[in-house]
Amino acid sequence: MRTIPHYINGATVSSTGELPVFNPATGEIDARVPVATSALVDETVALARGAWESWRSSSLSQRTNILFSLRHLLVQRTDELAVLITREHGKTIADAKGEIARGLENVEYACGLTDHLKGDFSSQVADGVDVHSFRESLGLVAAITPFNFPIMVPLWMAATALATGNVVILKPSERDPSVSVRLGELLAEAGLPAGVFNVLQGNAATVTQLLEHPGVDAVSFVGSTPVARHVYQVATQHEKRVQALGGAKNHMVVLPDADLDVAADAAINAGFGAAGERCMAISVVVAVGDIADELVDRIAQRVDRLTVGPGDDPASDFGPVITEEHRRRVLSYVTTPDPGVVVVRDGSAMSTASGFFVGACLLDHVTPGTRTYDDEIFGPVLSVTRVANFAAAVALINANPYGNGTAIFTRDGNAARLFSRQVSVGMIGVNVPIPVPVSSYSFGGWKSSLFGHSHMYGPEGIAFYSRAKVVTTRWPLASESQIDLGFPRTR
Ligand code: NAD
Repeated sequence: MRTIPHYINGATVSSTGELPVFNPATGEIDARVPVATSALVDETVALARGAWESWRSSSLSQRTNILFSLRHLLVQRTDELAVLITREHGKTIADAKGEIARGLENVEYACGLTDHLKGDFSSQVADGVDVHSFRESLGLVAAITPFNFPIMVPLWMAATALATGNVVILKPSERDPSVSVRLGELLAEAGLPAGVFNVLQGNAATVTQLLEHPGVDAVSFVGSTPVARHVYQVATQHEKRVQALGGAKNHMVVLPDADLDVAADAAINAGFGAAGERCMAISVVVAVGDIADELVDRIAQRVDRLTVGPGDDPASDFGPVITEEHRRRVLSYVTTPDPGVVVVRDGSAMSTASGFFVGACLLDHVTPGTRTYDDEIFGPVLSVTRVANFAAAVALINANPYGNGTAIFTRDGNAARLFSRQVSVGMIGVNVPIPVPVSSYSFGGWKSSLFGHSHMYGPEGIAFYSRAKVVTTRWPLASESQIDLGFPRTR
């Protein structure tokens, strides 16, 4: 049986595998992953801090060269990485490649660090006085990531944190941890000095030790809302800088003037891609006005054409969910539907002799206050909620505790503009169902989808992983020197 190592100080470190890592397509245990001992966490924090002493002073061109090389290696090794992701996560190879490509964007953005880290200069703010500012790294960043994007989310964090001169300890999801180790190896191949990027395998206990560790300066977390809230509370109590991105319940509003075929295609893509295990997946289609019957019918026809199967089978549209426990939970929304919910398509009938498969499910007449509406299902279950008008659609979204992503489908520019301005959501798509911002913007939700104020990657990522110094300078002549106990004035 494969045992997945840690990656510490530029080398893999083997240890006894404790936790099972499944191949979700077969349902078999495919590997085991260790849980870092408390002593190993301490040791890794100490050596990473040691590595920071030189990395923080590395030249911007040295860092840029490494990131350029990493970009090249990620492109070159995409096929190999995608196979590894599919094996432990279950998503299709095409989807794994898509995730790598979106992670790559963050490396490309980080390659522009000479520009991102430019300071300001003001000449003659007072007589003979100039001011300049520059940004410095924070130190050691603990990066804690979820199972659903095992390389993209680590790249959101690592590319930006390393570019800004920090050292990183990544604690990947214990469900699909292999690709993080490959990322460590590729960074080393790209020229990153040993100890600057490390991977500690583990579970909640490992995370807690990092959150409380005096050697950790900042915490970047992505995962479910209850854990994000907990991470934010514990890490801020320990005086870390924290950004903790949580779960989601994303609504896709379809106005009566929308092209219903375009909207139905989008609902299928965003609802069932990656088996619905995306934080930006559409989980609720909000049908406005009298189009609901027609829209549900068109979505149902498309559901019938979907193929669910192993991620490495090119015929599969989506693969299994992550665990057997999760499969059962997802199916429970369909096998015991909430009162009033109409099961239009029931994916539970799909054979489950092996693998954690759930067929595509479509539920109509889903209303707030039910389990189906209120929970983040995180599976291939698409709900339809019917509302009378535009204002009711906006009110529905704003009453939801999550605020990660949302989309509107319409041909009416004014309605789309109003929607963008009125919803309390961080990322909005206009006729775009999965509006993940490109890397030159930042990614993040509102409300219970984000704890802390900083979104991830892009300009907010640069700001999060660095802090400013402002230097006020004067070169006085000896003849000008005098004693003056007054508060410094500019005029
Ligand atoms: P999770 O919260 O279970 O785990 C995330 C990480 O936290 C893992 O590394 C895990 O080991 C660790 N962890 C789990 N329980 C912990 C605890 N009690 N204390 C400390 N650490 C703990 O999330 P998941 O199931 O791996 O991922 C799916 C969730 O992530 C979904 O809710 C999804 O919406 C969310 N997500 C959000 C975004 C976003 O950008 N907002 C992106 C991807 C995923």
